[in-house]
Amino acid sequence: VAIAFTIERVDGQPFTFDSVTYYPASIDTGSMDTGIDYATFFPIRHSPIGQAMRVNLFAFPGVQDAWARRFLEELAEELRQCFPKLEEAIGAYRVAGKIETSLIHLYRTEGDVQPGIVLIGDAAQNACPSTGMGLSKVFTDVDVLCTECVPEWFASPGMSSEKTASFWNNPRKRATDAKAIQDAVYRRKARTESSLRWKIHRARLEFAMRFGWKRKLAANNHTSGTPPQRNGQM
Ligand SMILES: Cc1cc2nc3c(=O)[nH]c(=O)nc-3n(C[C@H](O)[C@H](O)[C@H](O)COP(=O)(O)OP(=O)(O)OC[C@H]3O[C@@H](n4cnc5c(N)ncnc54)[C@H](O)[C@@H]3O)c2cc1C
Repeated sequence: VAIAFTIERVDGQPFTFDSVTYYPASIDTGSMDTGIDYATFFPIRHSPIGQAMRVNLFAFPGVQDAWARRFLEELAEELRQCFPKLEEAIGAYRVAGKIETSLIHLYRTEGDVQPGIVLIGDAAQNACPSTGMGLSKVFTDVDVLCTECVPEWFASPGMSSEKTASFWNNPRKRATDAKAIQDAVYRRKARTESSLRWKIHRARLEFAMRFGWKRKLAANNHTSGTPPQRNGQM
């Protein structure tokens, strides 16, 4: 699921960062059990409430998970439960405006190739939003179509199924589409699988995020704004 809402600072001041990706830490909340993957915070320039920060939260809740319903009913409270150290990282905030949710299923269009017709981007195959692969996929489709397929197709008369199939079978396109699926499956497993193997994997990821990212941030301290330095969760 993708849950989107807007927050603003309690004191009405601008946030002190440009954007943040915030991962819940199981050490703080046990929140790995909720299937929450991460939340991204990014400014909305034309927000009616001024200094607003949009939040996209991605999660893989199980059918039994009550937190997702609670999230819709008691957003502010549930946010504090799931991200107890968020306020330390971004400052005192409050939720402003309504919450939007979307249930996302992975799909791929299949069937016989229609001569002269191709589908690109999400129309052909969507991507799990938490992978961040959606735009890579649509840009790859457009690039393959414009630089490899169309010039070749138009070099000779007619538009056969074989010509059109060269788009669907293009190795660059197929590799990007396959990576989008692989990444989606990986992200879901990394957040929800309960076997020992995946639990160890999660612990290692969290360790790397807590300590590796702090070092990386310190080394690359060139971002505008002041990135929050707390928690090691970014
Ligand atoms: C919550 C969320 C967060 C995401 N975050 C990211 C991210 O961080 N990074 C990333 O890479 N991807 C992200 N994605 C995925 C990304 O948004 C999509 O993969 C990408 O937008 C696909 O582009 P597209 O052009 O194929 O389709 P779309 O962006 O959906 O564009 C299709 C357009 O066609 C229009 N349309 C539909 N029907 C008609 C009609 N009959 N007539 C005229 N127009 C029509 C629609 O209004 C729309 O504007 C996210 C997706 C979601 C849902």
